[in-house]
Amino acid sequence: SDHSLTYPISPADMDWAGLYPMYAKQETGEAGHADEKEQKQAKAKATSKDVEIADIGCGFGGLLFALAPKFPATLILGMEIRTSVTEYVEEKVRALRVQNASTNGYQNVSCIRANTMKFLPNFFQKSQLSKIFLCFPDPHFKQRKHKARIVSYTLNSEYAYVLRPGGVVYTITDVEDLHVWMREHFEKHPSFERVERGFEDGVGEDGEGMDECVRTMRVETEEGKKVERNKGSKFVACFRRLQDPAWP
Ligand code: SAM
Repeated sequence: SDHSLTYPISPADMDWAGLYPMYAKQETGEAGHADEKEQKQAKAKATSKDVEIADIGCGFGGLLFALAPKFPATLILGMEIRTSVTEYVEEKVRALRVQNASTNGYQNVSCIRANTMKFLPNFFQKSQLSKIFLCFPDPHFKQRKHKARIVSYTLNSEYAYVLRPGGVVYTITDVEDLHVWMREHFEKHPSFERVERGFEDGVGEDGEGMDECVRTMRVETEEGKKVERNKGSKFVACFRRLQDPAWP
């Protein structure tokens, strides 16, 4: 149940500095007007840069920890609904930051507990993200459960809102039916087009010519590793956020 979940009223209301303390905005101490206190509070929560990569339903964070050193200047956020799993990831972030203190490693990665099917735009501003990962989402096999899938026409509009034009949604699953479902829902959405080159399924299993993120999500997610061990199939599909059409 997610009754105990809380959501920020807006992205500015989130305590980003608490998640990425090394990127906390420094107090300038110059404001001298009536709303000084409010400004100071807002500043105390802000970071010098915004999250750009989101891993939705990040599970135990395998992908997050693989991406962090590959994108050292980018803030990466995992979002996970299960409390104990989120705590595990938070604990691992703390441990990795301590272990890598001399290089400031893993300061750019964090995790929060959230139901991403609700209020995603409360966390991110319009066009804030450059990449969204939907890795091995729960398949919800039964027809009457399809509404619980994290890809739908409505949710895709939310992903389109938070993703900048040119940004990419990465999907991977071992369930072919879900792969087809995700492809169909993104392909018919006017804000997305499928990206093929270097992103397509099974291209160069040796990694040759494959997008770096596709290669990473195939092998670094916990589910990806499980499928690998069981010699199962992995279905990849990626979608680019298109520019919004100009107003006539
Ligand atoms: N992405 C990870 C991987 O590839 O190894 C985990 C995949 S696991 C099958 C799906 C994860 O999504 C679970 O950890 C589940 O708790 C999480 N999840 C399901 N629905 C969610 C939601 N609405 N919001 C956030 N996380 C969700």
